[in-house]
Amino acid sequence: MKFTSLLAAALLALTSCAFAAPQQPHIVILATGGTIAGSAASNTQTIGYKAGAIGVQALIDAVPEVKSIARVDGEQIANIGSNDMTSDIILTLSKRVNALLARDDVDGVVITHGTDTLDETPYFLNLTVKSDKPVVFTGAMRPATAISADGPMNLLEAVTVAADPNARGRGVMLVMNDRIGAARFITKTNATTLDTFKAPEQGYLGVIVGGKPHFETRVEKIHTLRSVFDVRDVNSLPKVVIIYGYQDDPEYMYDAAIAHHADGIIYVGTGGGSTSVRSEAGIKKAEQAGIVVVRASRTGSGVVAPDDNMPGLVADSLNPAKARILLMTALTQTHDRALIQDYFQNY
Ligand code: ASP
Repeated sequence: MKFTSLLAAALLALTSCAFAAPQQPHIVILATGGTIAGSAASNTQTIGYKAGAIGVQALIDAVPEVKSIARVDGEQIANIGSNDMTSDIILTLSKRVNALLARDDVDGVVITHGTDTLDETPYFLNLTVKSDKPVVFTGAMRPATAISADGPMNLLEAVTVAADPNARGRGVMLVMNDRIGAARFITKTNATTLDTFKAPEQGYLGVIVGGKPHFETRVEKIHTLRSVFDVRDVNSLPKVVIIYGYQDDPEYMYDAAIAHHADGIIYVGTGGGSTSVRSEAGIKKAEQAGIVVVRASRTGSGVVAPDDNMPGLVADSLNPAKARILLMTALTQTHDRALIQDYFQNY
């Protein structure tokens, strides 16, 4: 080839590179069930429907608009109400997310999930995903068959956040109802309304306006890449049970936990994590049996601080369900009480 033709070919290659359409982000949607995949007999039925009835491809097909934002693939991890979610499934989910995000061709993951335990699974992934690529959970309060179902817009906005480079490094997120919540703090606060997910003290990471994420805050607590927890080779999670504190709460709940070989107990204390004489005796008995006990609060917000006059470790600002997730995760690698207390203060 002559020099001039070589030059022309090189110029052509350069121009086509410069004008090639930018590659869309590749987002994988992992579906686990819930109301977002729920189906009812009529479009006005919003209770008593079947959660986890629709498959992942149907969820994606219902929102063709996602194709203008990202290249999406779907995978079905489970198809259940999140009230039936188990530690085996969240472990499988964490491993799958880790494997996907380790690939160069995957830019982020969206997970559809029932709302009932949507404060637990995201926090487990916040502790155990080894990547700063976006991991975004979403769900719905109205089944897919309802008038004004919230699922399709929630899925579109979740993909929008997962595809946004600015979403990297913020920890695992929950996108619902135009808001971006942090897995560490967000929780379901109302049994039925659409705006149920809130973090009473900490608020939101940001909002979605006109199809664009606006981030406003960052989480101080340790998550994802900086987390010491690694469950990629863990086959099952330790058994941690929750015992609720109330007037007349009986000591025999602790005997049951000991008899069933629990590894840990979250005690949902009154007020700032206080104990009755019976729960105090039960906690001491459980600790003597080698069970790690952590006191949380039943108030719904605030910090349970260390108190030398009371038995048990303390949950800091984690709600009881999230405290259980952290204790299960911590017990996969240590039984050192001081170290576990340190995790509760920093994660
Ligand atoms: N029971 C459902 C679930 O958690 C509720 C929902 O998704 O809103 O799967």
